[in-house]
Amino acid sequence: MTKLGLDFPVFEPGWVWLVGAGPGDPGLLTLHAVNAMQQADVVVYDALVDERILNLLRPDAQRVYAGKRGGRPSSKQTDISLQLVDYAKKDLRVLRLKGGDPFVFGRGGEEGMTLVDHNVPFRVVPGITAGIAGAAYAGIPTTHRDCNSSVTFVTGHGSSGDVPDNINWAALAQGSPVLVMYMAMKHLRRISAELMANGRSGDEPLAVINQATTPAQGILITTLAKAADDVERVGVEPPAVCILGKVVGLRDRLNWLSPQDDVKEVRTVPFEQILELISTPADPRKD
Ligand code: SAH
Repeated sequence: MTKLGLDFPVFEPGWVWLVGAGPGDPGLLTLHAVNAMQQADVVVYDALVDERILNLLRPDAQRVYAGKRGGRPSSKQTDISLQLVDYAKKDLRVLRLKGGDPFVFGRGGEEGMTLVDHNVPFRVVPGITAGIAGAAYAGIPTTHRDCNSSVTFVTGHGSSGDVPDNINWAALAQGSPVLVMYMAMKHLRRISAELMANGRSGDEPLAVINQATTPAQGILITTLAKAADDVERVGVEPPAVCILGKVVGLRDRLNWLSPQDDVKEVRTVPFEQILELISTPADPRKD
């Protein structure tokens, strides 16, 4: 028991933990994620996992890069899932570390099902998803009472690499006051056209947030009609999420990470100090 009475699960050999690493800022990791990183024997990680986060791994942990960028997504996905099974069958503690949340456009479901098929025990640690965190770091709440009572997550990219053909554009355009779009950059022109053709105003504000929550974060505020042109003109670096809806306008007042803040000195607390708090041994007098 710790002083605070917070106990974290032991990572048992032969288990796989599917863990969300959040969008980039190491401060957005969960404590379960940090606990997993301190115990894992082997870590299979994605292209989207920030280098500063990998530095928190046990130094002797085996690192396996499973980035899918530029690879053939579908066949490689099977390989990754089976790789997790192989490591687990070798009685290792297998950490599958993914950007954002493993179950939000993260293929965590596919990997979990392969583990089930092979009787490998697993745990899922949710992470902060890039759409919500990116919006928040841009001063945009994904819900706000005066603007919307629902929010929709949509991907602009299906397993074929094209815009998914099962998207009901009319329903999305008319029924979703706020859209949080992942993997939408490549087909942004087509996506905007579909939304406008189905009744969405071209004047609606749209935010493009790239490399969200990292020191390289960029924000482009545009409109649905102009988004594709503006993205091309500016040359937005991936990864990026798009937020469409009235909530984008709230950034005018809620932009807490404003450019002026950069000139102020940001005081910091070392991570070790926070870890120490978490890992302080029990105070025997209190037992
Ligand atoms: N599981 C992840 C999403 C993976 S899909 C999550 O929950 O966040 C990959 C897409 O996520 C990218 O194309 C981009 O749209 C978005 N994304 C991931 N990390 C991002 C970041 N730091 N900044 C902006 N977008 C990001």
